Amino acid sequence: MSGEEHRDLVICGICLWSASLLRGSKGFTKCPMCGKETIEVIPVNDHETYTLRMKEKGIEVEFDVERR
Ligand SMILES: [Zn+2]
Repeated sequence: MSGEEHRDLVICGICLWSASLLRGSKGFTKCPMCGKETIEVIPVNDHETYTLRMKEKGIEVEFDVERR
């Protein structure tokens, strides 16, 4: 197993389904929940954490970079 772990966050803009993808995995072009092609991919680096907030108008993603 590689020690490197890159995750991409994928979010459906319609039903707000979301998941973390390992980089190199196939990914999604359609949302598995609602079937629309509204998937957005947000790259997430190793040393970042993120907070998702669900809002009426959409999703707010807040990134926090860990300080070392
Ligand atoms: Zn969806």
